[in-house]
Amino acid sequence: MDISRREFLRMAGASTIVGILGGWAAIELLPPRELEKKYLPKPGALKAKRWAMVVDVKKMDEKTANRCIAACHRIHNVPDIGDTKREIKWMWLEPFENAFYGEHQEHLTEQFIKNPFIVLCNHCENPPCVRVCPTKATWKREDGIVMMDMHRCIGCRFCMAACPYGSRSFNWMDSRPFIKERNPEYPTREKGVVEKCDFCAERIDEGLMPACVEVSNGALVFGDIRDPESEVRKILRSHYSIRRKSHLGTDPQVYYIV
Ligand code: SF4
Repeated sequence: MDISRREFLRMAGASTIVGILGGWAAIELLPPRELEKKYLPKPGALKAKRWAMVVDVKKMDEKTANRCIAACHRIHNVPDIGDTKREIKWMWLEPFENAFYGEHQEHLTEQFIKNPFIVLCNHCENPPCVRVCPTKATWKREDGIVMMDMHRCIGCRFCMAACPYGSRSFNWMDSRPFIKERNPEYPTREKGVVEKCDFCAERIDEGLMPACVEVSNGALVFGDIRDPESEVRKILRSHYSIRRKSHLGTDPQVYYIV
């Protein structure tokens, strides 16, 4: 059968659209439960009803914070792009007025003014990023970890717009040339994918604590916030803590003892 070039392009275009719509329909039909099942903890995994992190600000000096960030970025193949507009960050430092916007006032203690605060994804109980993701590339596990499936991400960046903490980064380019020391155990990311901290879900599933917690010398405590006997609950019972932008109703699960 003879068809003109224009006719061929029209047909190719129509089948591409049908393919895309079909793909979207298939994604939409896949319920979140199915996605959760794929990530059910393995035998030997650390388990919690609800994971949470406590940052002891007095113990978290800049040197310790940088050690935590380096450990996190090294094991997750986070590239060092060297350009703040395109940087990828899972953990990073912010001055108090940025980290706790609205709480800043003229007479803060020296420590608050001088020391930057370590920040990361808050693994919110009500994560707006999850609500807006059209492909369910991001979702909340039963234990509260807000996950990211980079293969499902279509790079729309709705989640970045929805997150009030700037906890997500977009890969403007292939990350691989910018990884100093590649960890073969963790995937690298392509151009057009969003990423963020996953509370080291892959380590928790292997029975290990998050990498940042391991190198923090006690400045980071991680545990089950629903367990009254857990370390995080004991610390929060005996110390005053604050959370980032908690007035927004996201219910962040990273607590700062100040
Ligand atoms: Fe989502 Fe941002 Fe909350 Fe993390 S901090 S769960 S990315 S809204």
